[in-house]
Parts: sequence; C-alpha cells; structure tokens
Amino acid sequence: MPKIIGLTGGIGSGKTTVAKLLEEKGFPVYYSDDEAKNIVNKDSVLKEKIIGLLGSEAYSNGVYNRKYVAEKVFNNSELLEPLNHLIHPAVKIDFEKWVNSQKSEFVFKETALLFELKLHLQCYKSLLITADDNLRIKRTMDRDDKTYREVEAIIQKQMPEKDKIKLADYIIYNNSDLESLRVATDAVVNELN
Ligand code: ADP
Repeated sequence: MPKIIGLTGGIGSGKTTVAKLLEEKGFPVYYSDDEAKNIVNKDSVLKEKIIGLLGSEAYSNGVYNRKYVAEKVFNNSELLEPLNHLIHPAVKIDFEKWVNSQKSEFVFKETALLFELKLHLQCYKSLLITADDNLRIKRTMDRDDKTYREVEAIIQKQMPEKDKIKLADYIIYNNSDLESLRVATDAVVNELN
C-alpha cells in the first residue's frame, strides 16, 4: 500500500500548483475536489440519493445541475450537510480503489477540506500550502475572475490558517515566486520517508 500524503490549503494557496509539480516529479495525485464533481454524474446510486434529497431538478437531462444545487444548499446547512454525507463516502470509496491501484511508495491526496473533514487522520502525513491572505485573494481574483470581496468571503468560511498550521506535518509558505515554490516542494519531497 502506498503511503498517503494529504495535500491541502485554502483557496488560492497554491495547492493545485504544488500538485502539478508533484505529478511532474512522478508522484500520483488524486484530486478529491475534482473527483467529487465527477462522481455526482458517474455514480448512479449516488445520483438517486441526491434526487431524493434535493428533488429531480438536481439533474437536468441526466447531468448534475451544479447551479441549481449550489443555490439550493447555499447557507442552508439542513441540506448542505446531508448532501456532503452522500458525496463524501462515495469519494472515499473511489479514492480507496485508486490508492490500491497505485504502485508508487507515496501518493498525494489533494483536498481543500483535509483538516475540516479530519481526513488527515487517514493519511500518513499532511502537507499544507499557505500564503498571506492578500496574495491568496489577488491570485484567486486573477485565476477565477472573482471580486476581492467574493474571495474574502470564501476565505472567511474556511478553517483559519493558524489552526491548519498547528495540524500540518509539512508546511510550504507560498509567499514568493513560482521558482521558490518549486524549491520548497522539492525540499518536502526530499524529507519524505
Ligand atoms: P489553489 O488550488 O490552492 O486554489 P492554485 O494552485 O490554483 O491555488 O493557485 C492560485 C493561482 O495562483 C493560480 O493561478 C496559480 O498559477 C497562481 N500561483 C500559485 N502560486 C504562485 C506563486 N508562487 N507565484 C505566482 N502565482 C502563483
């Protein structure tokens, strides 16, 4: 069994960039957040359960209606929590299948919610990417065409960085350029054992 390293960071921290660097170095990476988005269309049992919870409008012509669902569950924990309780176990099963098919000594599991969902407890080690809020906001605005306030609102809903820093085994401070991020990523990889 490969050793699983949980790779996490808040929005705009640079975790996807680090994931790509790791892939370039030959490490398999499982993108949990992307897989969660795919699985709602792939898994027919899950699909039925989501329709049971949110109604048939959750799918339009068989395709997950992300906009409808987002509007319906936004700020509504009575729906958001049960929805997450349907999606997360399905992703967990998909991840376990994926891990079992990997030959590498180390694999990385990228997920924004590693600590929030206590998934780090199921990992060998955790790697946190963090950066100053202002930089994260600026990078996300450039990437996603969002306003300062929109990104700030997302950051405020996420677990505070200081709490994540306490929980992480490895931390990369992504406050400089991409070359520094590459060097820092190499340093973490070289420490893994
Ligand atoms: P996350 O996946 O954590 O939301 P990304 O890896 O997508 O973050 O990074 C957010 C944006 O910032 C991307 O457009 C990425 O190319 C850019 N970026 C990340 N790190 C740096 C850096 N050190 N210097 C410049 N741009 C960066």
